[in-house]
Amino acid sequence: MNQSVPVINCEGCGVCCMTFGHPRYFWTQDQGSMIDQHWIDLPKSMVVEIEAYLETLGGDDDADFGKPCIWFDKVKLNCRHHRHRPQVCRDFEIGGDSCVRLRRQFGIE
Ligand code: SF4
Ligand code: SF4
Repeated sequence: MNQSVPVINCEGCGVCCMTFGHPRYFWTQDQGSMIDQHWIDLPKSMVVEIEAYLETLGGDDDADFGKPCIWFDKVKLNCRHHRHRPQVCRDFEIGGDSCVRLRRQFGIE
C-alpha cells in the first residue's frame, strides 16, 4: 500500500516561503484583508525594507506571488526574521493540505 509519510517539521523544506514573494502582513488565511499586529510591532528598519520592496511591484502587491519571499534564506532554508513573521505565516499548518501539496510540487515527500 502506498502511504504518505506524515510531515512532522519544516527541516530541509521551506517551500511555502518559496511562493510568498514577501511577508504578507495585510491578509491572513482566515480573515481576508486586515492589518496584523505583527506589522504594527515590526521594527522600523523592516517596515522600511518591505515598503521599499512593495514600491518595486508597481502597486500590485500580488505581482510576486509564487516567487521566493524576500525574507527567505535559501541557504539555511528558513525565515531571516522568523520572530517577526506575519500572522499568515504563523497560521500556515505544518502537514496541512497546502503544506503537503507544496511539498509534493517541489519534490519533497
Ligand atoms: S511547506 Fe510545510 S513543512 Fe515545508 S516549510 Fe512550509 S509549513 Fe514547513
Ligand atoms: S515565514 Fe518568513 S520567509 Fe517565510 S513567507 Fe513568512 S515572512 Fe517570508
